Amino acid sequence: MRIASLERLQRLLTKLPGVGEKTALRYILKVLERDASLARDLGAELSALPDRIGACVRCGHLAEKTGGDLQLCAICNDTRRDPTILCVVARVPDVLAFERAGSFRGRYHVLGCLLSPLDGIGPHELGIDRILARARDEGIREVVVATPPTVDGEATALLLKREFEASGVAVTRIASGVPHGGDLEFTDPITLGRALAGRRAL
Ligand SMILES: [Zn+2]
Repeated sequence: MRIASLERLQRLLTKLPGVGEKTALRYILKVLERDASLARDLGAELSALPDRIGACVRCGHLAEKTGGDLQLCAICNDTRRDPTILCVVARVPDVLAFERAGSFRGRYHVLGCLLSPLDGIGPHELGIDRILARARDEGIREVVVATPPTVDGEATALLLKREFEASGVAVTRIASGVPHGGDLEFTDPITLGRALAGRRAL
C-alpha cells in the first residue's frame, strides 16, 4: 500500500544528514501519533526558517533577520569579544564547535567553502578580499586559521598566509589533534580547546 503524501515527506526528510528511509518513516509516524499541533508547529517553524535566519553580513555565521533585513550575528554584536583576533573556519558548524568548547574569545569568519581549484573554487570564491578588508577595517592583529586538516583545508591555510604576508597581521594555524581529515564539528571540546591554545605561526 502506498501513501503518496507520506512518501513525499519521507523523501524530503532523507535529504537531511543521518536520516535514512527508516528513520524518516519513524519521525513521520511519531508526528502522526502525537497531537496535530506538533505537525503544525514543525511545519510553521520550518517554513519560516529562511525568512528568519540568514548569514551574518560580516562573518557569515547564522544571524537572526529582523524585519526581513540581514543582520549581524550575536557574536559580531557582542562587544565583549576581542575584536583583534579572527578565527577563519570553513563552515557554520565549526563556529558552533568552537563556541561549545568555549575557549575562543575573538570573532569568526566563515568561508563557506575551501580552496579547491579543480572544483572552480579559487581565492575569489573564498572571498579573500572580504577577509583582507575586515582585517584592515576592524584592526585585526591575528588570523587563526581553523580549516580542517585536509588537502583543501591546508591549501586554504597557505593561501591565507600568503595573502596576509605583507599586512603585518599574524597568521596562525590551530595545532594538530583534530582528527586527520576529520570535522571540527565532531572534535570534542577539550581537544579543540587544546588545538586552539597550541596554535603556531604559519
Ligand atoms: Zn557575524
